[in-house]
Amino acid sequence: MREFRTLSLRKKYKRSVMTIGEKTEMSDERLDDFMGRANATYYGNCNPFSDFITSPEISQIFGEILGGWVAVVKQHLPRGPFMLAEAGPGRGTLMSDALRLLQRVPDIMAAMEVHLVETSPRLRQIQKEALAAFDIKPVWHDRIESLPVMPFVFLGNEFLDALPVRQFVRCSEVACGWKERWVRGENFVLHEASDLPAELLLREAEEGEIVEISPAMLHVAEWLGNRLKNGMGAALLIDYGPSRSAPGDSLQALHKGRPADPLMKPGEADLTVHVDFEAIGRKASSTGARCFGPVTQGNFLSELGASARLEQLCRAAPDQAAALRTGLDRLMAPDRMGHLFKVLALTSPDMMKPPGF
Ligand code: SAH
Repeated sequence: MREFRTLSLRKKYKRSVMTIGEKTEMSDERLDDFMGRANATYYGNCNPFSDFITSPEISQIFGEILGGWVAVVKQHLPRGPFMLAEAGPGRGTLMSDALRLLQRVPDIMAAMEVHLVETSPRLRQIQKEALAAFDIKPVWHDRIESLPVMPFVFLGNEFLDALPVRQFVRCSEVACGWKERWVRGENFVLHEASDLPAELLLREAEEGEIVEISPAMLHVAEWLGNRLKNGMGAALLIDYGPSRSAPGDSLQALHKGRPADPLMKPGEADLTVHVDFEAIGRKASSTGARCFGPVTQGNFLSELGASARLEQLCRAAPDQAAALRTGLDRLMAPDRMGHLFKVLALTSPDMMKPPGF
């Protein structure tokens, strides 16, 4: 988001949805398939950072604080090698700011393997350049499943929101109680839902309301949960969305830095949804992992000493103090990114409560 979105919440593109009972056409595509295809093209071909700006790009303090979090959590991992993994590293800015801090922690770099999950070859190249100055040999992966099995810390900032979502509409006139939104050209059509995800049974909605379920996000939560249950580690997931599951259509698009119609120009716009933190936490907990939060990004950064770090940076570079203050304020102020953005931690069952929760 993409801070832009928090400010301009949220010009919705109203469209007519074709009547219930629409026949399936060959070209109809389930929304999650459409979104997965569109975002793969978008991240592969476009420069996302001309459309939106993320926390690490706004303030170096963000990545530094996360680096500090990694250092503390690492003390609770078994001695020996560990993996620092990041999913969706963008321009590599978060990792680079975190590594700058971690370099100052004795012995940590020698024990650390850096693994990055990134599907876009373009962004991989940018990440490689951003991390070239560090004494590490990052390994890239297309999927989380190929990350090596070892003690780990996993970071994901604005990774989940780019994953595909399904949208179900509460509808008492069909036996299963739900219709599903499919994409036909530049419109939604409603089909009787089949293959209902189990998560949907836990959700309540009034007639006509939309409930979003992201099998891809739930898969990440379950995968992390299983890895954490069977080994030592912790994951920190930061994104925008409500703390509790709520009905509503949160699909949004940014094209050339402006809100756009999500079904127009697939592959040229950034498509995201709000992350359902309650569902993520529940799925990860169901595997046996522990779940902390979500807390707001503002509280998390405050707990971890962001203001003290700001003062330190301002003293060191007084001519940049105003910009540094503005940057951190964007991340922490409740009416900007401080409240809408949440932080969720998942840990192995016998791990201590991580800092910030
Ligand atoms: N974390 C970065 C970038 C967020 S943008 C930051 O905070 O600045 C989303 C990132 O996730 C991009 O790097 C994008 O290429 C990557 N991404 C999107 N879908 C992905 C997928 N299915 N698997 C792996 N990475 C993905």
